[in-house]
Amino acid sequence: MTDVGSIVRARDLRVSFGRTEVLHGVDLDVAPGSAVGLVGESGSGKSTLAKVLVGSVAPTSGVVEVAGIDVGAADRASRRRLHRSVQLIPQDPYSSLNPRRTIGQALAEAIDPVRPSVRGSRARIDELLDRVRIPRDAVGRHPHEFSGGQRQRIAIARGLAVEPRVLVADEVTSALDVSVQAEVLRLLAELRRDLGLTMLFISHNLAVVNVVCDEVAVMRAGDVVESGSVREVFAAPRHPYTRELLASVP
Ligand code: ADP
Ligand code: MG
Repeated sequence: MTDVGSIVRARDLRVSFGRTEVLHGVDLDVAPGSAVGLVGESGSGKSTLAKVLVGSVAPTSGVVEVAGIDVGAADRASRRRLHRSVQLIPQDPYSSLNPRRTIGQALAEAIDPVRPSVRGSRARIDELLDRVRIPRDAVGRHPHEFSGGQRQRIAIARGLAVEPRVLVADEVTSALDVSVQAEVLRLLAELRRDLGLTMLFISHNLAVVNVVCDEVAVMRAGDVVESGSVREVFAAPRHPYTRELLASVP
């Protein structure tokens, strides 16, 4: 992973919740346009790192920049630029889709939070739905009318509304059946190719990371213990924990 020109850059990132430190000095570099897998057991700090990158958890110390923006900056202009640069797609689509709002309302709000208008944003809403291959008549429907995979694709469309440069996908396929997972993964690969998106792909599924990502960072108990190209790390893991992880892949 290169330092120069990184679109995501973390140096000695520490995060504490109360007295408990959960990230212990994480360094991470993501090159523009690349797909980086972030792997590690449950509780290792992957989601916390994801939240730091989108500005929803503040670093306790360290430097974190996304698209040149300091994620800790509190001024409105920086918050807005960060929001437009990086979007988090969570595992559970319901955490970004309000069950009471139609898909049209959800997308209109993502497009223009100040004056959301389904009618006014209709062309852009259609474009977003086309992009994730959801029929346009979804505009008047509610999230529960869709399958899990469709709902996840709608959540992705919502994330795309601001035309971000970076997408952080946190276990987005973990709750889905294998065939549905494949569809979502294909979509993410397509978005990366067509939109030039940079992807941080968080998953505990190493087989999926192997297919989707070019680089991988391995987290353990709040530290990145190893990182490098997927090919190198998978072929010749240096850290004992990475070896252990790879040995557990069926
Ligand atoms: P992962 O996504 O790798 O499973 P998380 O980032 O969700 O890991 O959690 C890392 C650690 O931080 C866990 O021990 C978790 O319990 C703790 N943690 C996460 N969020 C909070 C929070 N808001 N308050 C207190 N502890 C938290
Ligand atoms: Mg998590």
